[in-house]
Amino acid sequence: MKLNSYSLNNYKTLPQAEKLSAELKEAIDVVGNVFPFKTNNYVVNELIDWDNVAEDPFFKLTFPQKDMLSKNNYSLMWNTLMGTNNKDIIKTTADKIRLQLNPHPAGQMDMNVPTINGNSISGMQHKYKETVLFFPSQGQTCHAYCTFCFRWPQFVGMEGLKFMNKESATLFEYVKANKEVTDILFTGGDPMIMKAKVFASYIEPFLQRRPDNLQSIRIGTKVLSYWPYKFISDDDADEYLNLFERIVKSGINLSIMAHFSHPRELDTEAAKIAIQKLRATGVQIRTQSPLLKNINNSPEIWSEMWRKQVNLNCIPYYMFIPRDTGAQDYFAVTLEDAWKIFREAYQNVSGICRTVRGPSMSCTPGKVQVLGISEINSTKYFVLRMLQGRNPNWAGRPFFAKYDPKAIWMDDLVPAFEEKFFFEDELKLMEEISLDKTA
Ligand SMILES: *Cc1c(COP(=O)(O)O)cnc(C)c1O
Ligand code: SF4
Repeated sequence: MKLNSYSLNNYKTLPQAEKLSAELKEAIDVVGNVFPFKTNNYVVNELIDWDNVAEDPFFKLTFPQKDMLSKNNYSLMWNTLMGTNNKDIIKTTADKIRLQLNPHPAGQMDMNVPTINGNSISGMQHKYKETVLFFPSQGQTCHAYCTFCFRWPQFVGMEGLKFMNKESATLFEYVKANKEVTDILFTGGDPMIMKAKVFASYIEPFLQRRPDNLQSIRIGTKVLSYWPYKFISDDDADEYLNLFERIVKSGINLSIMAHFSHPRELDTEAAKIAIQKLRATGVQIRTQSPLLKNINNSPEIWSEMWRKQVNLNCIPYYMFIPRDTGAQDYFAVTLEDAWKIFREAYQNVSGICRTVRGPSMSCTPGKVQVLGISEINSTKYFVLRMLQGRNPNWAGRPFFAKYDPKAIWMDDLVPAFEEKFFFEDELKLMEEISLDKTA
């Protein structure tokens, strides 16, 4: 199968485009000038149900939708497009809207940048002690773009070259020099957009001279949902599978952190075959997704998805709460509802699906799990737990916030019993130190 991509300038050439009403097309054109838009023949032919397109989760997951912009911003862009074809003017309007949409959430740009000999390394993040994130420069795009993606600024060119690295030597030296690092997590974009040879160039140094601290290589990817043919019929499919087998045989754990948002992604023949081929090399597949209004906000969807994953030999890992950026209003579920959906789904599966953790927010201090809502002396509170902490000592700590039925993100929460959350003073100090470093 050959990959064909579609974006703003050619989606109307799709045979299915005739099923799109004038309103839907207008929305794609207006919103697609603000957010990135890319889909492909697999998503269009095998995932989207075109007979019910306006309500289809995969249509909403890759095609821009009207309600992803506020009414004001929608009219602003609509008016601009009516008034001009000038690309610069359209871009100026788009950038003005984009800047209102929190393009750099959770202190990623300033706080997590590692250094070697005092020089900061672009294209890497080291937030939690054991795991370093690596952003290979050739992996900074995807087979299709998710409309909720928190990396949207990089796909529209706002973030430029900051999250990129093509120096495999830098990654190797960094891991070797930092003995607390046990895991490398390749991320993007989607690293599985890379050719096998390019990916191998990052991996080979570790296979030649494995630093004893390195235990695990993870690959964060949506390729099993957006282009499973990568491991079936692409030119480099076998080259990838062989490389994976070599990594596993070398004694390094290799985990595909597969992003699945809906059970339908597990139903196609191509997805099932790709999963089988990967599993046959000895890699583990762990699964994660955000909980998204309009896409997957029901307990039945999640319990069905976890069961199908386990039946296909995948391990449910995280349920996330979408970050406070981009079209967050379109996708946001309240923390209370997120917990209710998680809990009901969790109650309807057996223990082998309950390896999943969530709902979890990746925010500045760490990954915060909503354990639930509890009543103490007839007052409701949020019970939270830090799953990962910028200070490793914070991990595993439970804490409490005042109950707020409207809260959708960590920033909306206030401490239940004290003036500050337990991590706040120390976090502030960390922020000041990193400002000094980047200044
Ligand atoms: C989630 C995350 C990790 C990995 O955390 P695990 O709990 O080990 O899966 C590493 N770095 C960052 C920045 C993360 O957000
Ligand atoms: S595949 Fe991942 S990085 Fe790419 S758009 Fe979707 S969520 Fe974002």
